[in-house]
Amino acid sequence: IKPVVALIGRPNVGKSTLFNQFTKSRQALVADLSGLTRDRQYGDAEYEGKAFIVVDTGGIGEADDGRGDIDDYMSEQSYTAIHEADIIVFVVDARAGMIGADAEIGKFLHTLGKPVYVVANKVDGVHDSAPAEFYALGLGEPYPMAASHGRGVGNLLEVLTADM
Ligand code: GDP
Ligand code: MG
Repeated sequence: IKPVVALIGRPNVGKSTLFNQFTKSRQALVADLSGLTRDRQYGDAEYEGKAFIVVDTGGIGEADDGRGDIDDYMSEQSYTAIHEADIIVFVVDARAGMIGADAEIGKFLHTLGKPVYVVANKVDGVHDSAPAEFYALGLGEPYPMAASHGRGVGNLLEVLTADM
């Protein structure tokens, strides 16, 4: 049975772009419109002979008052994807920096006891590293990535599939 990897994070951070990299497809809708991927989307991924299922989500929003609890951030769809997953990839936006919703999502992911990998996407400079502020999530070293250029994807796949 294939492991399930869920892509979790705020809208517009690059989850669908990463999904397309993982599945080598244009299946997931990539757009500037926040929250466009309303439902979960499943794809097959493979790296060096190791196969897994990747799940794209679109449902984690922003709390309107900036101090809501976790249910204000997480939709039903995201919860379902997280609970179905064996491994979580938490995508954050390196250009936007760490914002309140990231911290709330991170706190929730801590409680799961599942492996979580933080991906700092939109690190577009070839020599740039992930912004240090994301260490504060306490979820380990963030992996720098430029999903739209495919940079950092191979490294993440290597790490993700190491134990598969
Ligand atoms: P999602 O809402 O998290 O699924 O985000 P999308 O994958 O739809 O991407 C949102 C926007 O970010 C799109 O305009 C993408 O082209 C852009 N984007 C994705 N990856 C990168 C990246 O590595 N660098 C930059 N600068 N933009 C990116
Ligand atoms: Mg999307």
